Amino acid sequence: MEKPQKLKKPRGKASLIPGKCIACGARCQSVCPVEAIDMNEKGEPVILTDKCIGCQKCVKVCPVEALEMFFTPEELEILKKLEKEKGAGEPEEEAESEEDRELKNFLARYRGVWVFIEQTDCTPEKVSWELLGVGARLAGALEVELCAVVLGHNVERLCHEAFTYGASKAYLVDDPILKNYRTAPYLAAFCSLVEKYRPEIVLMGATGLGRDLAGAVATRLRTGLTADCTGLDINEKRQLLQTRPAFGGNIMATILCEGRRPQMASVRPHVMPMPVKKEDAAGEIIREKLTMKEKDVFTKVLQVISDAGRMDSVDIGGAEFIVSGGRGMMAKENFKILQELADELGGVVASSRSAVDAGWMPVERQVGQTGKTVRPKIYIACGISGAIQHLVGMQDSDLIIAINRDREAPIFEVATYGIVGDLFRIVPAITAHIRQMKTRRGTPKVC
Ligand SMILES: Cc1cc2nc3c(=O)[nH]c(=O)nc-3n(C[C@H](O)[C@H](O)[C@H](O)COP(=O)(O)OP(=O)(O)OC[C@H]3O[C@@H](n4cnc5c(N)ncnc54)[C@H](O)[C@@H]3O)c2cc1C
Ligand code: SF4
Ligand code: SF4
Repeated sequence: MEKPQKLKKPRGKASLIPGKCIACGARCQSVCPVEAIDMNEKGEPVILTDKCIGCQKCVKVCPVEALEMFFTPEELEILKKLEKEKGAGEPEEEAESEEDRELKNFLARYRGVWVFIEQTDCTPEKVSWELLGVGARLAGALEVELCAVVLGHNVERLCHEAFTYGASKAYLVDDPILKNYRTAPYLAAFCSLVEKYRPEIVLMGATGLGRDLAGAVATRLRTGLTADCTGLDINEKRQLLQTRPAFGGNIMATILCEGRRPQMASVRPHVMPMPVKKEDAAGEIIREKLTMKEKDVFTKVLQVISDAGRMDSVDIGGAEFIVSGGRGMMAKENFKILQELADELGGVVASSRSAVDAGWMPVERQVGQTGKTVRPKIYIACGISGAIQHLVGMQDSDLIIAINRDREAPIFEVATYGIVGDLFRIVPAITAHIRQMKTRRGTPKVC
């Protein structure tokens, strides 16, 4: 008698549940392996059912369960039959393939979240502490250790400082060769630590040094690196969800590194909040030796020239109050009114890219995707329309005040307070008002 043919489990097609999508930035589209999702002008997915292979990745990644699997009546019938057979003792799923098992074993060998502590002459970059903050959240979700990686010369004190910001362990390579940053010895030190201790996640600051080292490490270890992430999270498969702007900032892409370890991400300064410092926190220091010798390093540092004292050098990234101008300022000399307001607030002047392109402001003052990311207490945007490439650099400011004569300008969507009107009247009026308040407060009471 002929053996009855085994029923194949239907996979279905993805389908959007009307009214549920919140246009999160096309997470569903970014995970689809077969380009079966287009996005419409509202930022909602359009499923191309002829291309969909029913892998369910989009359904799983959607943060609001706006996608579900759709089955035809015939497929539903087969599913019902399979369900019955399962009840009768049939094995439900095909056995795990050899390839899947190998991948699982490989991934299981990597554990822990590492943060690279960047320093120059033992002065740490603040972004390293910001990364320990987000690293602690990721390590908590994965139930693993949060570790700091400290490379340099006479830098042990940074291990102790890392403990105060949440690390429970620090890997230290302290060697004169590592005194000044050079790619080759830092790369050798970092990769040997990774190869020995196998972390599953590595985070670095997207600074000049961090970008150089992260790219070199990822290339040497043949793993993935997502640069300039604005969001980091963990999914149910222990994978790092790395979100960053893509396609010129028009969409937010969430990127996964499925088959390689460690998962590497870089994050710009001021994107993540600073963690609370716990002065009495302690941890374990693991000391490792650098195997590289000076004669093997082809780059020599002859002199270090700092630009910190330059007259026009201003760190907009660290400023608490920023008054920022855009194309609406109309001319370079008009930035004087922003400087006056900034002086009253004890802040600095920044700008949009249009103002930089026009030659009104230096590039170091540019806020946005191709400029700096800032997170001040107050950001005052004057004559800036609010293009997405500008918003990604300032939208996490504690308080945003926007002054624009166009009430429809997108900057008002992220503003805490919006003032519709002519900035050339409003900005001097605010400055005058602050001066008045200061004078009143400074005048002693006559009894
Ligand atoms: C790949 C890429 C990267 C980019 N990176 C950046 C970046 O890092 N940073 C950045 O800023 N941009 C960036 N841009 C450019 C960005 O797309 C916008 O073109 C730019 O931000 C617009 O600058 P703006 O708002 O100053 O100028 P506009 O868009 O021209 O806006 C000027 C605003 O001023 C208002 N205005 C005019 N006169 C007055 C007045 N008297 N009073 C009040 N309001 C007035 C107008 O209503 C208008 O809203 C990038 C673009 C691309 C493609
Ligand atoms: S189910 Fe898989 S193949 Fe189909 S649209 Fe979603 S991600 Fe793409
Ligand atoms: S992941 Fe969900 S919320 Fe985001 S765009 Fe897709 S359907 Fe909409």
